[in-house]
Amino acid sequence: MGLEMAYEWNDRIPALLMINPPTLIEGVDDELVCRVPNGEFRPFTISLVWDSIRDSANLCIPKHAFNLWLVVNSKLKTQDRLRQWDVGPETDLNLLRCLFCDNQLDSHAHLFFECPLSLQGGTRVRALGRMDNIPPRLEDVVSYLIPLSKGGSATSVISHLLLAASCYSIWHERNSRLFKKGMKSYTQVFDDIVTIVWLKIISFRFTMNSSRIRRILDTWRLPGSVIIASSSTRGVPGMGCTLFPYSKVFPFRFFLGKGF
Ligand SMILES: [Zn+2]
Repeated sequence: MGLEMAYEWNDRIPALLMINPPTLIEGVDDELVCRVPNGEFRPFTISLVWDSIRDSANLCIPKHAFNLWLVVNSKLKTQDRLRQWDVGPETDLNLLRCLFCDNQLDSHAHLFFECPLSLQGGTRVRALGRMDNIPPRLEDVVSYLIPLSKGGSATSVISHLLLAASCYSIWHERNSRLFKKGMKSYTQVFDDIVTIVWLKIISFRFTMNSSRIRRILDTWRLPGSVIIASSSTRGVPGMGCTLFPYSKVFPFRFFLGKGF
């Protein structure tokens, strides 16, 4: 029973696989510390954690971003990475099949890009992120996004949001099916991805009224009120404009409750 729970927790919270067992030092009391962005360890407080993540979290959905980091590093416990001790003696690894297509073992490449579910929905998502011409392979999509991300443009932020939301939702749906907690249709999974990203984008404020931004507004059916006049407009020539999360535009009144 205990081991079964441990296996299930590994699937439900992949971050557990990344944690090394602690080294115990006799005579020294445990101490809870937090590593801040500059690498220092400081005594743990909630406010310290919040201060250290909120700037980078404003333009992403943290749980999606973390899951994407695991995907890019091929660290999720997909079926091709399972070993016998991961599943117990009663499970035959040779019989495992992708929970969406039932054709082969699932792997990072298969699950997020090659499986019929991902291919079908991915076409729609890539079109929304203006990534239609990018081959449906993780390395190609990441190679496309990395240079874009340096500019922090609207296109880059939205593309990242779409990729991260897709990977998170596919992984979540795969685990829901695995643990028999329900099953969504392909259409529903990708409808939800679009809704999640839309809800995030509508919390931004655009500071440049360019044709590119108006095209984004049309694509996502956003109201014109998301464009604000700003004396600190930081447009990125040829790449769109800089986005401001609502919390940055109105830091005191709207900071709380915007969520991720
Ligand atoms: Zn499949």
